[in-house]
Amino acid sequence: KASIHRICSGQVILDLATAVKELVENSLDAGATSIEVKLKEHGGDAIEVSDNGSGVSSDNYQVFFLSLDLFGLTLKYHTSKLSDFSDLQSLTSFGFRGEALSSLCSLADVSILTRTKEDETGTRISYNRAGLIVSKETAARQVGTTVTVSKLFSPLPVRHKEFLRNVRREYSRMIAILQAYALISKNVRLVCTNLVGKSSRSTILRTQGGSVRENIVTIFGPKTMACLDPMDISLPEDLSIEGFVSKPGSGSGRGSSDRQFFFVNGRPVDLPKFSKLLNELYKSFNSQQYPMAVLNFRLPTTAYDVNVTPDKRKLFLHSESSFMDGLRNALGNLYAPSKY
Ligand code: ADP
Ligand code: MG
Repeated sequence: KASIHRICSGQVILDLATAVKELVENSLDAGATSIEVKLKEHGGDAIEVSDNGSGVSSDNYQVFFLSLDLFGLTLKYHTSKLSDFSDLQSLTSFGFRGEALSSLCSLADVSILTRTKEDETGTRISYNRAGLIVSKETAARQVGTTVTVSKLFSPLPVRHKEFLRNVRREYSRMIAILQAYALISKNVRLVCTNLVGKSSRSTILRTQGGSVRENIVTIFGPKTMACLDPMDISLPEDLSIEGFVSKPGSGSGRGSSDRQFFFVNGRPVDLPKFSKLLNELYKSFNSQQYPMAVLNFRLPTTAYDVNVTPDKRKLFLHSESSFMDGLRNALGNLYAPSKY
């Protein structure tokens, strides 16, 4: 039974990037204004995410709860965020299925240290692979939560070996995803550091939580910002696209599309079709470089489904073709040869 759970969990926590993403989303959902991601050995040894959010209240310490349904006693994932799936349309939090922490428990050693504003002290809780609480003790902590995930994938020897072998690659993807959250988070300070061997901890990312423009400057530097044009497209039916794209002829300086960030109502997502469109239009008028893009698609929450893949990175836009046309027109104007 435990192994079935592990197979399922593998779908939510695919890699280092999704592990860190889920933890950061939990911090954002908890209203944190400061989030620190501390890695050991690029995450291969440990991942620790600390925030100054609401903390976990004692009735939410468990990651599973027992429920009775028609077929008898079942284990369900615990979430404090959504009790009724009909709420899904009006969803404003990142999490809603309560799968991330339980998946992490089955794939790693997990403990949390947390304190709400009602608590007099912090509490440290460790979980076993089944997601059950194995120890609970008081410990000093400001209001907020620290989740520590050690030895990710160690219960799956083959995946674990592969993880350690490819940890640098997984690490780069994780950074790209963290950068996306850092770019779009206007009121959140985000820090990511890494510790390798006995050397000192190095800072990989540090933002102050300013405007998207300010966040671009802090992450990529003023020179990168100078190569971007603002974009602001309004489309019918309350649709709009806002952000920045590479100026004609001044690509990202990179031979890959790793500097393209898409958001839907501020939620970082993969929009491969839009990325492809952007690359094609850019290349037809420009160099062999890939353009950089930081684009937020805004639309009514009723006009998309997030629940398409477990990692919630892909979604279904009901008005995809309007967005495609809008972006094609705007980029066509921007990248037309007459602009040179
Ligand atoms: P979900 O986010 O879908 O609810 P998770 O497994 O990611 O599911 O988290 C389970 C629950 O643990 C959350 O609903 C929340 O109550 C609590 N939680 C997890 N991380 C934090 C955090 N950083 N701060 C406050 N509460 C948290
Ligand atoms: Mg979550």
